[in-house]
Amino acid sequence: MKICVLAGDGIGPEITKQAVRVLDALNLGIQFSEAQVGGAAYRAAGHPLPPATLNLAKNSDAILFGAVGDFSLDKLPRELRPEQAILGLRKELNLFANFRPAIVYPELVHASTLKADVVASLDILIVRELTGDIYFGKPRGIHTLPNGEREGFDTMRYSESEIRRVAHVAFQAARKRGKRLCSVDKANVLDTMQLWREVVVQVAVDYPDVELSHQYVDNAAMQLLKNPKQFDVIVTGNMFGDILSDEASMLTGSIGMLPSASLNEHNFGLYEPIHGSAPDIAGKGVANPLATILSAAMMLRYTFADVASADKIDDAVKRVLAQGYRTADIAEPGATLVGTAQMGDAVLAALA
Ligand code: NAD
Repeated sequence: MKICVLAGDGIGPEITKQAVRVLDALNLGIQFSEAQVGGAAYRAAGHPLPPATLNLAKNSDAILFGAVGDFSLDKLPRELRPEQAILGLRKELNLFANFRPAIVYPELVHASTLKADVVASLDILIVRELTGDIYFGKPRGIHTLPNGEREGFDTMRYSESEIRRVAHVAFQAARKRGKRLCSVDKANVLDTMQLWREVVVQVAVDYPDVELSHQYVDNAAMQLLKNPKQFDVIVTGNMFGDILSDEASMLTGSIGMLPSASLNEHNFGLYEPIHGSAPDIAGKGVANPLATILSAAMMLRYTFADVASADKIDDAVKRVLAQGYRTADIAEPGATLVGTAQMGDAVLAALA
């Protein structure tokens, strides 16, 4: 297993370090390589995703990504800003399927802004298409109308093959979980989404053991708050998935706990916490490394199909939470407050 570690900016190096310690402790013979990305790469090499970093990523089996983002570089032209690195990696590596689990751990149920009985034991997975839709569709732009007024426009587009491949990924994920898949679209208004629904229904024929349902995105946004436990796996397009996955992550109330995976058709993946570089706490040793550690578990599960090792990490995280260890972002009164490295130590101890 060759893992490329792209730590990035802010808390990125602190949190990836703990995830690497955890992967190392499993003695799986992993080879780690590191490269700079984001603001750190811009400062060192003049580009947020230098060719050397991209090559290293392409020649690895999976990427462990920290976070990118540096407010002091926000005035750079868009293509040189740190955040472009993650977009560039998605595009170059064809990472079209984004997996975002939203899990509520019993110990953290009160971190959610929703009532405990609504979110207790929540365990859902959102599969978001990541490389198509209105974010990439052409034509797009801002032009001036004959009356002198400016008009902005973007194009929502999906080909059948783009819909089909993400639908297959989602059905396969549902098959490994509760065998229920809800496809979210806006087929009542948008032609692109009508095609989305037709293709998902065609793909469903290959998965008779998975129960397929459909919801319009406006209803899905409401249902996620009203009764999120009705869902097992949700599959949706890029824009709707962007919004719904952030909504779902907040059901758990704890940004420092949520991992993600972005996969291509060969199960090559980029694994990262959903949060950013948290410049406000960078270098203080207080960041929560658990989202990154859980991302490493997703890597073992999805890219390396090592379910046993992935389960070991997930169980170790559950154990440290049950033991009362908390970083500041998830701490409640009476908890044992720990820093980034101590949380890593606790997970290693729980693994052992
Ligand atoms: P953020 O996610 O970095 O931080 C939001 C808040 O959550 C902050 O108060 C931060 O301290 C806290 N937080 C985040 N992760 C935490 C952790 N592991 N432990 C404890 N607390 C944590 O979002 P932001 O402040 O809006 O953005 C900061 C930078 O990150 C920006 O430059 C943004 O563009 C970038 N960003 C990058 C990614 C990515 O790399 N994939 C994702 C989102 C934002």
